[in-house]
Amino acid sequence: MDILVIGCGVSGLTTGIRLLEAGHRVTIWARDMPGSRPLPQPPAVTSEVAAAVWYPYKAYPQERVNAWGAAAYRVFRELAAQGSPEEHGVVMREVVEALPQPAPDPWWVEAVRDTFRHARAGELPAGYIDGYIFAAPVIDMSIYLGYLQRRFMDGGGTISEHTIASLDEAFAANPIVVNCTGLGAREVVGDKELYPSRGQVVRIRPRGFHRVVMDDYGPNKVAYIVPRVHDIVLGGVDDEHNESVTPDESVTAGILARCGSLVPEMANVQPDDILAVVCGLRPARSTVRLEREEVAPGRIAIHNYGHGGAGVTLSWGCADEVVALVSQS
Ligand SMILES: Cc1cc2nc3c(=O)[nH]c(=O)nc-3n(C[C@H](O)[C@H](O)[C@H](O)COP(=O)(O)OP(=O)(O)OC[C@H]3O[C@@H](n4cnc5c(N)ncnc54)[C@H](O)[C@@H]3O)c2cc1C
Repeated sequence: MDILVIGCGVSGLTTGIRLLEAGHRVTIWARDMPGSRPLPQPPAVTSEVAAAVWYPYKAYPQERVNAWGAAAYRVFRELAAQGSPEEHGVVMREVVEALPQPAPDPWWVEAVRDTFRHARAGELPAGYIDGYIFAAPVIDMSIYLGYLQRRFMDGGGTISEHTIASLDEAFAANPIVVNCTGLGAREVVGDKELYPSRGQVVRIRPRGFHRVVMDDYGPNKVAYIVPRVHDIVLGGVDDEHNESVTPDESVTAGILARCGSLVPEMANVQPDDILAVVCGLRPARSTVRLEREEVAPGRIAIHNYGHGGAGVTLSWGCADEVVALVSQS
């Protein structure tokens, strides 16, 4: 079938690849392309800003998120074992999530069960009582989005710059449309449930540190340290309903202070160590919208947006489900 995908972030590209692999002819239309705005301008596509570590953050419902996340985990782990991270940007890292009090296993544990354990005394930063330790993929989006674009085009897909005001414009070109517009779905389908959750990260030069460390609930919340292929991403903030993509210096100072307090190796980051400060708006929603909708006779929309802080984490699982929904058409 001919399928038109709207959106060229991680959701649109991954979905496009899986649809090509299933034998369809696929075109992507997008308002913004990854990499279209060079730094220091704010990145145009949220996916460019993702840290990105595999972690089901701010995405619901748990049962579907678990299945999508587990599927994507397997794909990323296989990718990390092939070729070079210079080519695809994916590496496996040890993750330490520090917790201020004893906690049960997390709801998403099944996907990482084979490497998951609670931290032993002495493995945690000062001031923490418990912790989760597991292996997870870290996806360097500065490399990975280019890899996805190449893989999509090598598979026969086409990408063009095209902004739509509503899905009607897309249906005028093709009867099956996959909506991967992220936060753009507020305008494209008038989704009032979707809202921005602003994030800001500081990219610093590498400093021989290779573990992901995070605190979401403890004295340094929210802090995360994500060593990528050529740099380290320090975060973060989660500022709901704030639409600004301009870096805020006081937020940068807070991120550096919290990360330095969480991990001594991140203390004393000097201005010269900072490569970039970037912001992005997570497409937050009470639940990810992944469903098939018959908009009119013969006109099928498949929605795949609203992944919150986990669009990369869920990408391959969601893409597989889109392929299954297309096959019902
Ligand atoms: C600071 C930060 C850190 C994050 N860290 C992580 C992490 O560690 N792990 C993780 O899994 N996730 C992380 N995320 C979340 C992740 O970035 C998002 O969930 C994900 O990028 C959403 O991808 P998407 O492809 O759905 O949307 P987007 O990347 O926003 O792409 C949307 C696409 O749709 C296009 N579009 C929109 N409107 C229109 C229109 N009207 N017409 C045509 N095209 C349109 C856009 O131009 C773009 O191409 C983070 C986010 C932030 C901000």
